Amino acid sequence: METKQESCRLPRNGKRVILFPLPYQGHINPMLQIASVLYSKGFSITIIHTNLNPLNACNYPHFEFHSISASLSETEASTEDIVAILIALNAKCVVPFWDCLVKLTSISNVQEDSFACIITDPLWYFVHAVANDFKLPTIILQTNSVSAYLAFAAYPILREKCYLPIQDSQLEAPIIECPPLRVKDIPIFETGDPKNVDKVISAMDESCISWLDKHAPKSVIYVSFGSVVNIDETEFLEIAWGLANSRVPFLWVVRPGLVREAEWLELLPKGFVEMLDGRGHIVKWAPQQEVLAHPAVGGFLTHGGWNSTLESICEGVPMICQPYFGDQMVNARYISHVWRLGLHLDGKVERREIEIAVRRVMIETEGQEMRERILYSKEKANLCLKPGGSSYQSLERLIDHILSF
Ligand code: UDP
Repeated sequence: METKQESCRLPRNGKRVILFPLPYQGHINPMLQIASVLYSKGFSITIIHTNLNPLNACNYPHFEFHSISASLSETEASTEDIVAILIALNAKCVVPFWDCLVKLTSISNVQEDSFACIITDPLWYFVHAVANDFKLPTIILQTNSVSAYLAFAAYPILREKCYLPIQDSQLEAPIIECPPLRVKDIPIFETGDPKNVDKVISAMDESCISWLDKHAPKSVIYVSFGSVVNIDETEFLEIAWGLANSRVPFLWVVRPGLVREAEWLELLPKGFVEMLDGRGHIVKWAPQQEVLAHPAVGGFLTHGGWNSTLESICEGVPMICQPYFGDQMVNARYISHVWRLGLHLDGKVERREIEIAVRRVMIETEGQEMRERILYSKEKANLCLKPGGSSYQSLERLIDHILSF
């Protein structure tokens, strides 16, 4: 999809930045956020995205959007091997991305802006060579936490020290080289399905806000496992019963595709939803940041994706982490054992464990203590974003760096 850039009201600096996000929500959101910041600082913005993600251009009337076709075969698109998908995406996007840059740079001869650089995702590894041919510098936007990044970077040493491949008998062993991680926290990728990602990006369900409006402050636990994780039938039912048995009101995002081999909720026992008697509300997708900011939300049962973690900290909501793969393991360990802003469910998904964890965070004093700590972290996070704060200064430095190209 392409949209014409509307006339700009803010002063422009004559430089245009191209941003190219990976087609997953947790990678797109931070890219659009940095684009908005750069726009506010005077840069013109061009977003190149794959056809796997029909981004809503209406939300960004000042940005120029260009869609390129990733043209994955049906087999490539349907594999659950996320690494295989990334490899296929990188191979399939070279030519369309190249063609798009040819088009953009030839138009730029007649446009007032000059291209400063391309900001892209570390997993779009093909981009650097193409950008080089167009003499465009590249900047990487790392969408994981620093801790997860360091754990990924430690892969060679983890292999050398025989932590990898992971052996079941070693799962609990501490990794001396990467404290506080244990072998089971190593960020690994096993499965994934881009078709599901495609589906979930579309619909934003606002109905959950009116449901939350009817609840007392800090009384509802919000449950969501992000945009990529999938679970099996047993895990799904254990979570459902754990939530129901806790008797704490819950708002649960069950996106189509969350449960393998299920359309949506059909695996729930007959009468389950009625039995909840209004205590549970299940939606396909939620405006997560708005939900976390709602006064009724007092806890977040999460897969521990980095965006979800940051969003929860920024809204002061303590977490229960049920990590599945990749950086989620690292985040869960830090949330529970280093920052002490939540709990880490690191065994098999079981209803009794979930029930107990929900009650610990939502009802017991332990949860209240976590809430106090996370409010302090929220304040610290806000300070980082203010003039003089570390994130603010990093952005200023980034802008100076881009202006130097
Ligand atoms: N998200 C959302 N509504 C949902 C589920 C997720 O808006 O129902 C957003 C969430 O706010 C976050 C992103 O999707 O910004 C998920 O990113 P994260 O890094 O937490 O997890 P991933 O999807 O990459 O595993």
